[in-house]
Amino acid sequence: VQRCEVLIVGGGPAGSSCATRLVQAGVDVLLVDRARFPRDKVCAGWITPAVVQTVGLDLQDYARSRTLQAFTGFRTSRIGRRPRLTDFHRIVSYGIRRCEFDEYLLQRSGVATLQDESIVDIRRDAGFWIVNDRIRARMLVGAGGHFCPVSRVLNPHHADRGTIVAQEVEFALDASAAAHCPIEGERPELFFWPDLAGYGWCVRKGAFLNLGAGRLTPSELPPAIREFQAMLERRGIPQPRAPIKWKGHAYLLNQFARRRLVADGALLIGDAAGLALAPSGEGILAAVESGLMAADVILAAGSDYSQTRLAAYAGHIGSRFGQRARPAPAVPPWLTSAASTMLLNLPWFTRRILIENGFLHTRRTALKVAS
Ligand SMILES: Cc1cc2nc3c(=O)[nH]c(=O)nc-3n(C[C@H](O)[C@H](O)[C@H](O)COP(=O)(O)OP(=O)(O)OC[C@H]3O[C@@H](n4cnc5c(N)ncnc54)[C@H](O)[C@@H]3O)c2cc1C
Repeated sequence: VQRCEVLIVGGGPAGSSCATRLVQAGVDVLLVDRARFPRDKVCAGWITPAVVQTVGLDLQDYARSRTLQAFTGFRTSRIGRRPRLTDFHRIVSYGIRRCEFDEYLLQRSGVATLQDESIVDIRRDAGFWIVNDRIRARMLVGAGGHFCPVSRVLNPHHADRGTIVAQEVEFALDASAAAHCPIEGERPELFFWPDLAGYGWCVRKGAFLNLGAGRLTPSELPPAIREFQAMLERRGIPQPRAPIKWKGHAYLLNQFARRRLVADGALLIGDAAGLALAPSGEGILAAVESGLMAADVILAAGSDYSQTRLAAYAGHIGSRFGQRARPAPAVPPWLTSAASTMLLNLPWFTRRILIENGFLHTRRTALKVAS
Protein backbone atom coordinates (compact mmCIF):
# COMPACT_ATOMS: atom_id res chain seq x y z
CA VAL A 1 0.00 0.00 0.00
CA GLN A 2 1.27 3.45 -1.01
CA ARG A 3 0.67 6.10 1.68
CA CYS A 4 0.27 9.86 1.31
CA GLU A 5 -1.30 12.71 3.25
CA VAL A 6 -3.29 14.18 0.32
CA LEU A 7 -4.33 12.22 -2.76
CA ILE A 8 -5.40 14.27 -5.78
CA VAL A 9 -7.40 12.40 -8.41
CA GLY A 10 -6.86 14.07 -11.81
CA GLY A 11 -3.94 16.02 -13.29
CA GLY A 12 -5.83 18.68 -15.31
CA PRO A 13 -5.53 22.39 -14.43
CA ALA A 14 -7.52 21.92 -11.21
CA GLY A 15 -5.40 19.05 -9.90
CA SER A 16 -2.04 20.55 -10.90
CA SER A 17 -2.91 23.97 -9.37
CA CYS A 18 -3.92 22.39 -6.08
CA ALA A 19 -0.80 20.20 -6.15
CA THR A 20 1.48 23.19 -6.82
CA ARG A 21 0.29 25.01 -3.70
CA LEU A 22 0.43 21.92 -1.45
CA VAL A 23 3.86 20.81 -2.67
CA GLN A 24 5.19 24.35 -2.09
CA ALA A 25 3.94 24.08 1.50
CA GLY A 26 5.78 20.79 1.99
CA VAL A 27 2.71 18.52 2.12
CA ASP A 28 3.12 14.86 1.14
CA VAL A 29 0.91 14.75 -2.00
CA LEU A 30 0.33 12.08 -4.62
CA LEU A 31 -1.53 12.89 -7.85
CA VAL A 32 -3.10 10.04 -9.78
CA ASP A 33 -4.40 10.19 -13.35
CA ARG A 34 -5.82 7.47 -15.55
CA ALA A 35 -3.99 8.98 -18.53
CA ARG A 36 -0.28 9.32 -19.23
CA PHE A 37 0.78 12.89 -19.90
CA PRO A 38 0.96 14.52 -22.33
CA ARG A 39 -2.72 13.71 -22.83
CA ASP A 40 -5.35 15.65 -24.70
CA LYS A 41 -8.58 17.10 -23.29
CA VAL A 42 -11.69 17.97 -25.28
CA CYS A 43 -11.48 21.79 -25.17
CA ALA A 44 -11.18 24.86 -27.41
CA GLY A 45 -8.02 25.82 -25.51
CA TRP A 46 -8.90 29.47 -24.93
CA ILE A 47 -7.47 31.02 -21.76
CA THR A 48 -8.13 34.52 -20.46
CA PRO A 49 -5.34 36.72 -18.99
CA ALA A 50 -6.67 35.87 -15.51
CA VAL A 51 -5.56 32.26 -16.05
CA VAL A 52 -2.08 33.42 -17.08
CA GLN A 53 -1.89 35.59 -13.97
CA THR A 54 -3.35 33.05 -11.54
CA VAL A 55 -1.09 30.17 -12.56
CA GLY A 56 1.88 32.57 -12.94
CA LEU A 57 2.50 31.45 -16.51
CA ASP A 58 5.84 32.66 -17.90
CA LEU A 59 4.62 33.31 -21.45
CA GLN A 60 8.10 33.48 -22.96
CA ASP A 61 9.19 30.22 -21.41
CA TYR A 62 5.90 28.58 -22.32
CA ALA A 63 5.98 29.67 -25.95
CA ARG A 64 9.58 28.48 -26.48
CA SER A 65 8.44 25.05 -27.60
CA ARG A 66 4.63 25.21 -27.41
CA THR A 67 1.75 26.82 -29.29
CA LEU A 68 0.67 30.14 -27.78
CA GLN A 69 -1.68 32.23 -29.92
CA ALA A 70 -2.48 35.78 -28.86
CA PHE A 71 -6.07 36.97 -29.50
CA THR A 72 -6.67 40.67 -30.11
CA GLY A 73 -10.29 40.60 -31.24
CA PHE A 74 -13.27 38.42 -32.10
CA ARG A 75 -15.66 37.93 -34.98
CA THR A 76 -19.18 37.19 -33.76
CA SER A 77 -22.43 36.43 -35.53
CA ARG A 78 -25.78 34.82 -35.23
CA ILE A 79 -25.03 31.50 -36.99
CA GLY A 80 -25.48 31.85 -40.74
CA ARG A 81 -25.36 35.66 -40.71
CA ARG A 82 -22.48 38.03 -41.51
CA PRO A 83 -19.81 38.15 -38.78
CA ARG A 84 -19.06 41.41 -36.94
CA LEU A 85 -15.47 42.23 -35.98
CA THR A 86 -14.79 43.57 -32.48
CA ASP A 87 -11.13 44.57 -32.30
CA PHE A 88 -9.36 45.44 -29.05
CA HIS A 89 -5.96 46.25 -30.63
CA ARG A 90 -4.26 44.59 -27.65
CA ILE A 91 -3.96 41.03 -26.37
CA VAL A 92 -7.17 40.03 -24.61
CA SER A 93 -6.77 36.23 -24.47
CA TYR A 94 -4.63 33.33 -25.63
CA GLY A 95 -5.04 30.05 -27.44
CA ILE A 96 -3.16 27.03 -26.07
CA ARG A 97 -3.21 23.30 -26.82
CA ARG A 98 -4.40 21.28 -23.86
CA CYS A 99 -1.99 18.42 -24.61
CA GLU A 100 0.83 20.92 -23.99
CA PHE A 101 -0.67 23.25 -21.37
CA ASP A 102 -1.79 20.55 -18.93
CA GLU A 103 1.52 18.70 -19.11
CA TYR A 104 3.44 21.96 -18.57
CA LEU A 105 1.46 22.81 -15.42
CA LEU A 106 1.66 19.28 -14.06
CA GLN A 107 5.43 19.00 -14.55
CA ARG A 108 5.99 22.46 -13.11
CA SER A 109 4.07 21.54 -9.94
CA GLY A 110 6.76 19.05 -8.94
CA VAL A 111 4.12 16.68 -7.53
CA ALA A 112 4.73 12.94 -7.35
CA THR A 113 2.42 11.29 -9.89
CA LEU A 114 1.01 7.89 -10.58
CA GLN A 115 -0.12 7.90 -14.23
CA ASP A 116 -2.03 5.28 -16.25
CA GLU A 117 -3.94 4.52 -13.02
CA SER A 118 -7.71 4.72 -13.29
CA ILE A 119 -9.43 5.18 -9.95
CA VAL A 120 -12.23 2.63 -9.83
CA ASP A 121 -12.61 1.91 -6.13
CA ILE A 122 -12.76 4.37 -3.22
CA ARG A 123 -13.65 3.38 0.31
CA ARG A 124 -13.36 4.85 3.78
CA ASP A 125 -11.64 2.91 6.54
CA ALA A 126 -10.99 4.23 10.07
CA GLY A 127 -10.51 7.84 8.96
CA PHE A 128 -8.44 6.98 5.85
CA TRP A 129 -9.34 6.71 2.19
CA ILE A 130 -8.33 3.43 0.56
CA VAL A 131 -8.19 3.86 -3.18
CA ASN A 132 -7.94 0.99 -5.69
CA ASP A 133 -6.94 -1.15 -2.70
CA ARG A 134 -3.38 0.18 -2.98
CA ILE A 135 -3.26 3.85 -1.99
CA ARG A 136 -4.03 5.13 1.52
CA ALA A 137 -4.60 8.85 2.11
CA ARG A 138 -6.02 11.04 4.86
CA MET A 139 -7.37 13.68 2.47
CA LEU A 140 -8.87 13.13 -0.98
CA VAL A 141 -9.21 15.86 -3.62
CA GLY A 142 -11.54 15.13 -6.54
CA ALA A 143 -10.08 16.77 -9.66
CA GLY A 144 -11.10 14.11 -12.17
CA GLY A 145 -13.28 16.31 -14.35
CA HIS A 146 -17.03 15.99 -14.95
CA PHE A 147 -17.09 12.21 -14.42
CA CYS A 148 -14.73 12.27 -11.43
CA PRO A 149 -15.00 9.14 -9.27
CA VAL A 150 -14.60 11.22 -6.08
CA SER A 151 -17.58 13.33 -7.12
CA ARG A 152 -19.65 10.13 -7.37
CA VAL A 153 -18.65 9.18 -3.81
CA LEU A 154 -19.74 12.59 -2.50
CA ASN A 155 -22.89 12.68 -4.66
CA PRO A 156 -24.06 9.06 -4.90
CA HIS A 157 -27.71 9.65 -5.86
CA HIS A 158 -27.27 12.90 -7.68
CA ALA A 159 -28.58 13.76 -11.15
CA ASP A 160 -27.02 16.89 -12.69
CA ARG A 161 -29.14 19.56 -14.28
CA GLY A 162 -28.08 22.18 -16.82
CA THR A 163 -25.15 20.17 -18.19
CA ILE A 164 -23.30 21.70 -21.17
CA VAL A 165 -22.64 19.17 -23.90
CA ALA A 166 -20.03 20.08 -26.49
CA GLN A 167 -17.99 18.63 -29.33
CA GLU A 168 -14.74 19.81 -30.81
CA VAL A 169 -11.94 18.80 -33.13
CA GLU A 170 -8.39 20.12 -33.30
CA PHE A 171 -6.08 19.43 -36.22
CA ALA A 172 -2.96 20.69 -37.98
CA LEU A 173 -3.53 22.77 -41.10
CA ASP A 174 -1.39 21.77 -44.06
CA ALA A 175 0.29 24.55 -46.04
CA SER A 176 -2.54 24.92 -48.55
CA ALA A 177 -5.31 24.84 -45.91
CA ALA A 178 -3.36 27.38 -43.82
CA ALA A 179 -3.03 29.72 -46.80
CA HIS A 180 -6.76 29.60 -47.62
CA CYS A 181 -8.27 29.34 -44.13
CA PRO A 182 -10.48 32.41 -43.58
CA ILE A 183 -10.02 32.24 -39.78
CA GLU A 184 -7.28 34.54 -38.49
CA GLY A 185 -5.19 33.45 -35.51
CA GLU A 186 -5.58 36.79 -33.73
CA ARG A 187 -9.38 36.88 -34.17
CA PRO A 188 -11.31 33.71 -33.30
CA GLU A 189 -14.93 33.49 -34.51
CA LEU A 190 -17.97 32.79 -32.34
CA PHE A 191 -21.33 31.74 -33.82
CA PHE A 192 -24.44 32.04 -31.64
CA TRP A 193 -27.67 30.15 -32.00
CA PRO A 194 -30.73 32.44 -31.89
CA ASP A 195 -31.90 31.11 -28.50
CA LEU A 196 -28.45 31.95 -27.04
CA ALA A 197 -28.39 28.51 -25.39
CA GLY A 198 -25.20 27.58 -27.18
CA TYR A 199 -22.52 28.70 -29.59
CA GLY A 200 -19.91 27.43 -31.99
CA TRP A 201 -16.31 28.53 -32.41
CA CYS A 202 -13.39 28.52 -34.83
CA VAL A 203 -10.14 29.11 -33.02
CA ARG A 204 -6.90 29.10 -34.98
CA LYS A 205 -3.78 28.53 -32.90
CA GLY A 206 -0.62 28.84 -34.95
CA ALA A 207 -0.63 25.85 -37.28
CA PHE A 208 -3.70 24.29 -35.64
CA LEU A 209 -7.42 24.88 -36.05
CA ASN A 210 -9.96 24.08 -33.32
CA LEU A 211 -13.63 23.84 -34.33
CA GLY A 212 -16.45 23.12 -31.93
CA ALA A 213 -19.88 23.86 -30.56
CA GLY A 214 -21.75 23.43 -27.29
CA ARG A 215 -25.39 23.46 -26.22
CA LEU A 216 -27.23 23.44 -22.90
CA THR A 217 -29.63 20.68 -24.01
CA PRO A 218 -28.00 17.37 -25.01
CA SER A 219 -30.67 16.45 -27.61
CA GLU A 220 -30.00 19.73 -29.43
CA LEU A 221 -26.30 19.12 -29.94
CA PRO A 222 -26.34 16.70 -32.94
CA PRO A 223 -28.50 18.99 -35.17
CA ALA A 224 -26.47 22.00 -34.00
CA ILE A 225 -23.21 20.29 -35.01
CA ARG A 226 -24.70 19.43 -38.42
CA GLU A 227 -25.78 23.04 -38.95
CA PHE A 228 -22.37 24.25 -37.81
CA GLN A 229 -20.50 21.88 -40.15
CA ALA A 230 -22.69 22.96 -43.09
CA MET A 231 -21.84 26.59 -42.28
CA LEU A 232 -18.09 25.72 -42.18
CA GLU A 233 -18.46 24.11 -45.61
CA ARG A 234 -20.19 27.18 -47.07
CA ARG A 235 -17.56 29.50 -45.63
CA GLY A 236 -14.65 27.40 -46.94
CA ILE A 237 -13.34 26.78 -43.41
CA PRO A 238 -11.12 23.68 -43.45
CA GLN A 239 -12.46 20.57 -41.73
CA PRO A 240 -10.45 17.55 -40.59
CA ARG A 241 -9.96 14.50 -42.73
CA ALA A 242 -10.39 10.92 -41.44
CA PRO A 243 -9.14 9.43 -39.17
CA ILE A 244 -9.35 12.67 -37.11
CA LYS A 245 -12.76 12.74 -35.41
CA TRP A 246 -14.90 15.19 -33.46
CA LYS A 247 -14.93 14.36 -29.76
CA GLY A 248 -17.59 15.16 -27.20
CA HIS A 249 -17.61 15.96 -23.51
CA ALA A 250 -19.88 17.40 -20.82
CA TYR A 251 -19.48 19.81 -17.93
CA LEU A 252 -21.47 22.04 -15.58
CA LEU A 253 -21.90 25.77 -15.20
CA ASN A 254 -21.52 26.85 -11.58
CA GLN A 255 -24.91 28.58 -11.62
CA PHE A 256 -26.80 25.33 -12.28
CA ALA A 257 -24.54 22.87 -10.43
CA ARG A 258 -25.85 21.23 -7.27
CA ARG A 259 -23.04 18.83 -6.47
CA ARG A 260 -22.01 18.62 -2.85
CA LEU A 261 -18.45 19.98 -2.62
CA VAL A 262 -17.18 18.84 0.78
CA ALA A 263 -17.31 15.74 3.00
CA ASP A 264 -15.18 14.39 5.83
CA GLY A 265 -11.66 14.18 4.37
CA ALA A 266 -12.69 15.08 0.82
CA LEU A 267 -13.47 17.99 -1.48
CA LEU A 268 -14.08 18.61 -5.17
CA ILE A 269 -12.39 21.10 -7.49
CA GLY A 270 -12.70 22.13 -11.17
CA ASP A 271 -15.17 20.27 -13.38
CA ALA A 272 -15.59 17.60 -10.69
CA ALA A 273 -17.34 20.32 -8.67
CA GLY A 274 -19.09 21.91 -11.69
CA LEU A 275 -17.76 25.46 -11.67
CA ALA A 276 -17.55 26.76 -15.25
CA LEU A 277 -18.36 30.43 -15.78
CA ALA A 278 -21.47 31.51 -17.69
CA PRO A 279 -22.17 32.29 -20.43
CA SER A 280 -18.85 31.42 -22.08
CA GLY A 281 -18.38 28.05 -20.39
CA GLU A 282 -14.81 29.01 -19.48
CA GLY A 283 -13.76 26.22 -17.12
CA ILE A 284 -9.97 26.46 -16.92
CA LEU A 285 -10.01 29.62 -14.78
CA ALA A 286 -12.49 28.09 -12.32
CA ALA A 287 -10.38 24.92 -12.25
CA VAL A 288 -7.16 26.71 -11.28
CA GLU A 289 -8.85 29.09 -8.86
CA SER A 290 -10.73 26.31 -7.07
CA GLY A 291 -7.53 24.22 -6.95
CA LEU A 292 -5.68 27.02 -5.16
CA MET A 293 -8.63 27.79 -2.87
CA ALA A 294 -8.90 24.12 -1.91
CA ALA A 295 -5.18 23.93 -1.17
CA ASP A 296 -5.43 26.93 1.15
CA VAL A 297 -8.36 25.39 3.03
CA ILE A 298 -6.48 22.07 3.36
CA LEU A 299 -3.42 23.88 4.71
CA ALA A 300 -5.51 25.92 7.14
CA ALA A 301 -7.19 22.75 8.41
CA GLY A 302 -3.89 21.52 9.86
CA SER A 303 -4.41 17.81 10.10
CA ASP A 304 -8.10 18.06 10.97
CA TYR A 305 -9.84 17.22 7.69
CA SER A 306 -13.31 16.98 9.20
CA GLN A 307 -16.21 18.29 7.13
CA THR A 308 -16.60 21.15 9.63
CA ARG A 309 -13.03 22.33 9.02
CA LEU A 310 -13.30 21.93 5.23
CA ALA A 311 -16.74 23.63 5.02
CA ALA A 312 -15.01 26.99 4.53
CA TYR A 313 -14.14 25.81 1.00
CA ALA A 314 -17.82 25.65 -0.04
CA GLY A 315 -18.25 29.16 1.36
CA HIS A 316 -15.26 30.47 -0.63
CA ILE A 317 -16.65 28.89 -3.82
CA GLY A 318 -20.00 30.61 -3.21
CA SER A 319 -18.37 34.01 -2.69
CA ARG A 320 -16.07 33.65 -5.68
CA PHE A 321 -18.36 32.07 -8.29
CA GLY A 322 -21.80 33.14 -7.11
CA GLN A 323 -24.96 31.36 -6.14
CA ARG A 324 -25.24 27.74 -7.30
CA ALA A 325 -28.28 25.58 -8.07
CA ARG A 326 -30.19 28.37 -9.77
CA PRO A 327 -33.18 27.36 -11.91
CA ALA A 328 -32.81 27.68 -15.69
CA PRO A 329 -34.16 31.03 -16.97
CA ALA A 330 -37.73 30.74 -18.25
CA VAL A 331 -37.59 33.11 -21.24
CA PRO A 332 -39.72 32.00 -24.21
CA PRO A 333 -37.49 30.96 -27.16
CA TRP A 334 -39.23 33.38 -29.62
CA LEU A 335 -38.36 36.29 -27.33
CA THR A 336 -34.71 35.25 -26.95
CA SER A 337 -34.49 34.73 -30.68
CA ALA A 338 -35.90 38.17 -31.52
CA ALA A 339 -33.72 39.80 -28.87
CA SER A 340 -30.53 38.00 -29.92
CA THR A 341 -30.98 39.02 -33.56
CA MET A 342 -31.29 42.65 -32.51
CA LEU A 343 -28.57 42.58 -29.83
CA LEU A 344 -25.93 40.78 -31.91
CA ASN A 345 -26.29 43.63 -34.44
CA LEU A 346 -25.44 46.26 -31.82
CA PRO A 347 -21.69 46.97 -31.60
CA TRP A 348 -21.86 48.15 -27.95
CA PHE A 349 -23.74 45.00 -26.88
CA THR A 350 -21.27 42.74 -28.66
CA ARG A 351 -18.24 44.53 -27.22
CA ARG A 352 -19.32 45.42 -23.67
CA ILE A 353 -21.89 42.78 -22.70
CA LEU A 354 -21.14 39.75 -24.80
CA ILE A 355 -17.35 39.81 -25.13
CA GLU A 356 -16.06 41.91 -22.22
CA ASN A 357 -18.56 40.74 -19.59
CA GLY A 358 -19.58 37.35 -20.91
CA PHE A 359 -16.32 36.00 -22.32
CA LEU A 360 -13.42 38.05 -20.93
CA HIS A 361 -14.90 38.69 -17.46
CA THR A 362 -13.04 41.98 -17.38
CA ARG A 363 -14.79 43.12 -14.18
CA ARG A 364 -13.66 40.10 -12.18
CA THR A 365 -10.93 40.87 -9.69
CA ALA A 366 -7.87 38.64 -9.36
CA LEU A 367 -8.15 35.78 -6.88
CA LYS A 368 -6.70 36.55 -3.47
CA VAL A 369 -5.16 33.47 -1.92
CA ALA A 370 -3.11 33.15 1.22
CA SER A 371 0.64 33.21 0.53
C1 LIG B 1 -15.73 21.13 -26.05
C2 LIG B 1 -15.23 21.89 -24.85
C3 LIG B 1 -14.56 23.09 -25.04
C4 LIG B 1 -14.08 23.81 -23.94
N1 LIG B 1 -13.38 24.96 -24.17
C5 LIG B 1 -12.88 25.65 -23.13
C6 LIG B 1 -12.06 26.79 -23.34
O1 LIG B 1 -11.75 27.16 -24.48
N2 LIG B 1 -11.61 27.48 -22.26
C7 LIG B 1 -11.90 27.09 -20.99
O2 LIG B 1 -11.49 27.77 -20.03
N3 LIG B 1 -12.65 25.98 -20.75
C8 LIG B 1 -13.11 25.24 -21.78
N4 LIG B 1 -13.81 24.09 -21.55
C9 LIG B 1 -13.95 23.60 -20.16
C10 LIG B 1 -12.61 23.03 -19.68
O3 LIG B 1 -12.11 22.10 -20.62
C11 LIG B 1 -12.75 22.37 -18.31
O4 LIG B 1 -13.52 23.21 -17.48
C12 LIG B 1 -11.41 22.10 -17.66
O5 LIG B 1 -10.65 21.17 -18.41
C13 LIG B 1 -11.58 21.57 -16.23
O6 LIG B 1 -10.33 21.20 -15.71
P1 LIG B 1 -10.23 20.06 -14.60
O7 LIG B 1 -8.80 20.03 -14.17
O8 LIG B 1 -11.29 20.23 -13.59
O9 LIG B 1 -10.59 18.70 -15.35
P2 LIG B 1 -9.93 17.99 -16.61
O10 LIG B 1 -9.14 18.93 -17.39
O11 LIG B 1 -11.04 17.25 -17.27
O12 LIG B 1 -8.92 16.93 -15.97
C14 LIG B 1 -9.40 15.80 -15.30
C15 LIG B 1 -8.31 14.73 -15.24
O13 LIG B 1 -8.79 13.65 -14.44
C16 LIG B 1 -8.43 12.43 -15.03
N5 LIG B 1 -9.39 11.41 -14.61
C17 LIG B 1 -10.70 11.35 -14.93
N6 LIG B 1 -11.27 10.25 -14.39
C18 LIG B 1 -10.28 9.61 -13.72
C19 LIG B 1 -10.23 8.40 -12.96
N7 LIG B 1 -11.31 7.62 -12.79
N8 LIG B 1 -9.05 8.02 -12.42
C20 LIG B 1 -7.94 8.79 -12.57
N9 LIG B 1 -7.93 9.95 -13.30
C21 LIG B 1 -9.08 10.34 -13.85
C22 LIG B 1 -8.45 12.70 -16.52
O14 LIG B 1 -7.62 11.82 -17.24
C23 LIG B 1 -7.95 14.15 -16.60
O15 LIG B 1 -6.56 14.23 -16.80
C24 LIG B 1 -14.31 23.34 -22.62
C25 LIG B 1 -14.98 22.13 -22.42
C26 LIG B 1 -15.44 21.41 -23.53
C27 LIG B 1 -16.15 20.11 -23.29
